[in-house]
Amino acid sequence: MSDCLFCSIVAGQVPSNKLYEDALCYAFYDIAPQAPTHFLVIPKAHISSVSAVNSENEAVVGHIFSVIAQLAGQLGLESYRVVSNIGEQAGQSVLHLHFHVLSGRDMTWPPG
Ligand code: 5GP
Ligand code: ZN
Repeated sequence: MSDCLFCSIVAGQVPSNKLYEDALCYAFYDIAPQAPTHFLVIPKAHISSVSAVNSENEAVVGHIFSVIAQLAGQLGLESYRVVSNIGEQAGQSVLHLHFHVLSGRDMTWPPG
């Protein structure tokens, strides 16, 4: 999608601090980190949020979780949180599916 920030990051039109890339997904550090380690993993194909995941595109979600586990291992993350916000009330500000990976500090439950 031409007017999507994360599609522009995948296309290299907006710079990012890339952590990982393959044919299906792209991982990069969040510009406003909320923990000592905070990166995002996104599908390269535009999907607006978890609400738009369906039987046609669900494979990339499993792949993203496999990549998250791989990156967490490489970074030596022993404990971390994976978050995806869906919709405005939950705090979604970029309408391209993304999974936050946060680590390196104590976290509370339930989240605010
Ligand atoms: P959301 O609020 O939709 O759950 O998460 C969007 C995330 O994208 C936020 O944590 C925000 O800091 C991050 N973000 C927004 N714009 C950019 C950008 O241009 N580059 C990077 N690396 N992260 C961004
Ligand atoms: Zn997009």
